[in-house]
Amino acid sequence: MKELVERIQKDGRVLGEGVLKVDSFVTHQVDPVLMEKMGQCFAEVFKDQGITKVVTIEASGIAPALFAAKELSVPMIFARKAKSLTMNEELLTASVYSFTKQVTSTISISRKFLSAKDKVLIIDDFLANGQAAKGLIELCRQAGAKVEGIGIVIEKSFQDGRQLLEEMGLQVVSLARIASLANGQVEFFEEDA
Ligand code: 5GP
Repeated sequence: MKELVERIQKDGRVLGEGVLKVDSFVTHQVDPVLMEKMGQCFAEVFKDQGITKVVTIEASGIAPALFAAKELSVPMIFARKAKSLTMNEELLTASVYSFTKQVTSTISISRKFLSAKDKVLIIDDFLANGQAAKGLIELCRQAGAKVEGIGIVIEKSFQDGRQLLEEMGLQVVSLARIASLANGQVEFFEEDA
């Protein structure tokens, strides 16, 4: 997606350890106009797949997932990373190792929000090694829901996430694909740049 690539070129900052900081428009301050366009892109790709729920993980997946859900006219569910006192019903849970925080956390969704009737589009802000997406897939599996596809805002293609998800037979659609963050420079795959 051209606007996203241009915004990353303008405002993205490369941190060491292969991490891209996009906190001025995705992960902290959020650009709603760009987010809406991203939601429309995801919806355009998945509109004929009978999606009934969009599922993401808090916090930075929520904005793109919400706009995608609005375009598809379906509910958005975000998996929680910490158990809330109000979540007293039965939970679907999975362990996720966080690439950026380097800790394992338990993510959960109330069982009542996902069922075997659901066709799910998973959305997240970044794809690195695929652990967040794998955790969300596990929650869907526990509910018997079918994962129809994965929508990613920024894929770091030099990490293993896409391969892991494609080996599970899943369609992965990324709005920007980064080939390299070496030497503090963002390099995109040619078709995106
Ligand atoms: P994965 O689970 O695919 O290894 O990593 C994806 C998750 O880690 C995303 O939900 C995102 O929060 C975080 N993440 C991974 N790489 C980056 C990055 O380069 N920048 C930022 N801001 N977050 C990242």
